[in-house]
Amino acid sequence: MQIKGQNIIILGAGESGIGAAILATKMGANVFVSDFGQIKDSFKKELNERGFEWEEGKHSEERILNADLIIKSPGIPEKAPLIKKLRAQNTKIISEIEFAGYFSTAKTICITGSNGKTTTTLLTYHILKKAGINVGLAGNIGQSFAKQVAENDFEWYVLELSSFQLDDMYDFKADIAILMNITPDHLDRYEYSMQNYTNSKFRITNNQTAKDWFIYNLDDPIIAAEIDKQPILAQHAPFSLLKEVELGGFASKQQITINIKKQLTMSIHDLALKGKHNTQNSLASGIASRILEIRKDVVRESLEDFVNVEHRLEFVAKVHGIEFINDSKATNVNSTWFALESMDKPTVWIVGGVDKGNDYSELHDLVREKVKAIICLGVDNQKLIESFTGVVDTIVEARSAMEAVAYGYRIAKKDESVLLSPACASFDLFENYEDRGNQFKAAVKAL
Ligand code: ADP
Repeated sequence: MQIKGQNIIILGAGESGIGAAILATKMGANVFVSDFGQIKDSFKKELNERGFEWEEGKHSEERILNADLIIKSPGIPEKAPLIKKLRAQNTKIISEIEFAGYFSTAKTICITGSNGKTTTTLLTYHILKKAGINVGLAGNIGQSFAKQVAENDFEWYVLELSSFQLDDMYDFKADIAILMNITPDHLDRYEYSMQNYTNSKFRITNNQTAKDWFIYNLDDPIIAAEIDKQPILAQHAPFSLLKEVELGGFASKQQITINIKKQLTMSIHDLALKGKHNTQNSLASGIASRILEIRKDVVRESLEDFVNVEHRLEFVAKVHGIEFINDSKATNVNSTWFALESMDKPTVWIVGGVDKGNDYSELHDLVREKVKAIICLGVDNQKLIESFTGVVDTIVEARSAMEAVAYGYRIAKKDESVLLSPACASFDLFENYEDRGNQFKAAVKAL
């Protein structure tokens, strides 16, 4: 790809935008970075230090409409007026991942799905690292892909990809693509069409050939229904918790089995990540590692000693025999379903926040079985209260993490659990899900 002398506009000055600017400049393009919002101070500093031209709080439309190529942050929606104008005049708009892909010869393992992306990405990266592979980590996580391609290209990358990134990818190819699951999320960006969102997720298989691999969740009803309809050339390596898989992986009650080349088996009890959803994540990562022919003992050891990131079914503390668990990252019903499913003690469940059109009835059976009380943690809890009245006897409302934890501590007894798994976004009471999780943990530690 020749971009020397071209006018490239980068929309959005976050980690990926700045990375794209670095790579585009290195390749000889004229670069201009434009952000309609305010740019974070640390990024402004970097833009200035590197001598890039930039603007914030506006888009200089005329200049942008004359660009040869636009690299767009995944956060900018299609309905933004500027994007509409660019589309109308057929300006090429790509994501930072697509752009970096033009200049990298590295191989990639790309991971998408509605839930489990970060966990599976980090776990896969952990295994590859332990196996001594020269591997980078990028996408929605860590440093930008483009920046790494510009400064220290690796032999392999593990990339976490959201559907928004996939939407602006065209020529990019994943050597190994992983699709964890498809459940309703972000439908506001897909004209409230599940098919549009599903198609977007399947873009992860674009351009794959018979030499490449597609790892996917065979138990996911949407994926299963779609798999034969989508034009996929890659070799299939599915995983399942329900049935045996000849080429791929599966779990039975006590054991996981990975059937890629030679068979690898391992006790479920030895997996670092607990819960059914995490078994799926371990299977996906394990399959990818065995496709790379990483030694079985290295794969086993890595699946055993992986330490997950914060806010995902994170054990916080045991106070007077009551276990507190932080699953603040659960911002949709599906991830909360898996959290509740993995609870093995009577649970006081803290839920709520900004509802993204949730259907809570999917949780009723599990809640009846596992939950002894509900603490609503949101500004508007009406929908939750209506949905769970009659399902659970005790429902109370809290307006802060501190208050929610105090209720939890009062209601739960010894050998019971208090679980924060909100199924909602956090913006009504908190800055983001990390802030919510941190406030929860601080409140627990103050008990
Ligand atoms: P993502 O990056 O896709 O948001 P994370 O790994 O950060 O995924 O996990 C988000 C939430 O989903 C957490 O609450 C976590 O416990 C839950 N989760 C993790 N893996 C899965 C999975 N395979 N299926 C459903 N939920 C999952």
